[in-house]
Amino acid sequence: MSETLENLLQETRRFEPPGDLAADANVKADAYEQAGADRLAFWATQAGRLDWTKQWDQVLDWSNPPFAKWFVGGTLNVAYNCLDRHIEAGRGAKVAIHFEGEPGDRRTITYSDLHTSVCRAANALTALGIEPGDRVAIYMPMIPEAAVAMLACARIGATHSVVFGGFSVDALKGRIQDADAKLVITADGGYRRGKPSALKPTVDESVAECPSVEHVLVVRRTGEDVSWTDGRDLWWHEVVETADPVHEAQPMDAEHPLFILYTSGTTAKPKGILHTTGGYLTQVSYTFNAVFDHKPDTDVYWCTADIGWVTGHSYIVYGPLSNGATQVMYEGTPDTPHRGRFWEIVQQYKVSILYTAPTLIRTMMKWGDDIPAEYDLSSLRILGSVGEPINPEAWIWYRQTIGRGETPVVDTWWQTETGGIMISPLPGVTATKPGSAMRPLPGIVADVVDDQGNSVPNGGGGYLVLREPWPSMLRTIWGDDQRFIETYWSRFSNMYFAGDGAKRDEDGDLWLLGRVDDVMLVSGHNISTTEVESALVSHPKVAESAVVGATDPTTGQAIVAFVILRGAAEGDDALLGELRDHVAKTLGPIAKPRQIMLVPELPKTRSGKIMRRLLRDVAERRSLGDVTTLQDSTVMDLIQNGMSAGK
Ligand code: ATP
Ligand code: MG
Repeated sequence: MSETLENLLQETRRFEPPGDLAADANVKADAYEQAGADRLAFWATQAGRLDWTKQWDQVLDWSNPPFAKWFVGGTLNVAYNCLDRHIEAGRGAKVAIHFEGEPGDRRTITYSDLHTSVCRAANALTALGIEPGDRVAIYMPMIPEAAVAMLACARIGATHSVVFGGFSVDALKGRIQDADAKLVITADGGYRRGKPSALKPTVDESVAECPSVEHVLVVRRTGEDVSWTDGRDLWWHEVVETADPVHEAQPMDAEHPLFILYTSGTTAKPKGILHTTGGYLTQVSYTFNAVFDHKPDTDVYWCTADIGWVTGHSYIVYGPLSNGATQVMYEGTPDTPHRGRFWEIVQQYKVSILYTAPTLIRTMMKWGDDIPAEYDLSSLRILGSVGEPINPEAWIWYRQTIGRGETPVVDTWWQTETGGIMISPLPGVTATKPGSAMRPLPGIVADVVDDQGNSVPNGGGGYLVLREPWPSMLRTIWGDDQRFIETYWSRFSNMYFAGDGAKRDEDGDLWLLGRVDDVMLVSGHNISTTEVESALVSHPKVAESAVVGATDPTTGQAIVAFVILRGAAEGDDALLGELRDHVAKTLGPIAKPRQIMLVPELPKTRSGKIMRRLLRDVAERRSLGDVTTLQDSTVMDLIQNGMSAGK
């Protein structure tokens, strides 16, 4: 990793925070000093942003690493912090959620409305025999009831396990069984790509092999026919909407299990990541306020993630609601019924903070600038990115085309395991660099180390680690402490190893390079896939690319690139030659791809991440490995056909 190429470090563009934003920012530069002087006191201050029913005795108990306890002895209720306290402060009439269904149906839900729904659901769950510590699986479309279900669990101390609504029978079954869930909350279906997409049949098939499940609670969304198991299945509108709207939130221990969330499975068998109550809420609440500079009286926030991913947990449900935010929730796909849908939503609700993923940004680039140009995006003041490294050109496009060349872009690095944002610019403080997540947030101690675990100097590259525990850290892998230790704490002693590679530039700022498994070894040089991809995307005709190392008799591994062209660009042999030369010129001859293939799509997980593992299979002409987490399996046929046609 130390030999990684130098191109990213040659990025010289800098963007200072807008003056008025900096002057009025929630978090200023002194936060780094305060946290640096006394990290635990800093986190105690942030915990003080929440309402506790009992103050903690100790901020951090790290006597049995890597098993951390934060805010030991404290008690609080997460749902109370997300709802009741705003109402008690006179903000019950404030809009919590502007819901936009894919077919165009809309609902405006105030904090009081949401509170009433959550109280009813809490009473209904209790009546169904759900007790603190019981697990509840939630398999839902992106509708407000998904958030209600999560908050109702939090309110009564049940541990939720949200499973992304696009997952298959096997994925759902495995997750229900792993957590021994007693209840499954689902819907008849949701809307995707202009039509109803059923969920209940998947639940029926899964639950048939899940003896722990006593009931299935079903929200009616699409109105399509569903099969019904009497005694087991219950309609939400019959059980929840008729329940008592009065419910008193019960205090939970700071370390009470709040949720289990299985990682997206890009690299290995999904792991049930366990998050607890006090530390988790402290960190997601603080980071939402800090990273998005959220102003409760004026901002309208929209995170385009699905609630089934950690981004949806931390930055649709718990972070925004604990801060009393007004947000947009959208059910469907970005191109239904047309490719301007996202920008239409921004215009409609005057969204001021947008949080989305590089995969979507690159897709919008591919569709062309004339689409966002049709909408009024002047309400936007902060743009966030999460999920993958963002290529510098995609970052610039986001800032220029969506952000009028004025809005700060915050590239936020974090994981299911970290619970909240760890590395990110602060919009009122940081002079950003396109493609860099910049610095660990105040209170976070991240580092880049070599094979031996020594910090690399500025200008070096290596493994991204976290040297100190943080409040929203995972507490374990559900039911498998040993795997928790082996996966995250064994590669280096006394450090959390995230699995990602990173570089530290001459100023000490961090550049994420993707997973260490994706680094290629070409003629003895370590080259990161991210860097070659970014070089390709910096060519004006390229929208998106994925790069893999394929076994090569002479160089060990050779670089094979899959490329999607922008809008109207036409591909031919001359262009392929031009692209190969462009990479060589940008990064040096060692990084010149052996082969470039033009493809219409790339294989992505359902959370939008490129699955390089499958492309490596194609490049090495092997049969494909596990494709079950692929978003669209026909993509691989398109790519393989192109390959055999010799393109
Ligand atoms: P699995 O661990 O099962 O393979 P996953 O890692 O895709 O799943 P997540 O926890 O959702 O599941 O993703 C976290 C990973 O996403 C990080 O480890 C990193 O590789 C990548 N990532 C997230 N945000 C960024 C970012 N801003 N820059 C670079 N990489 C990012
Ligand atoms: Mg991961």
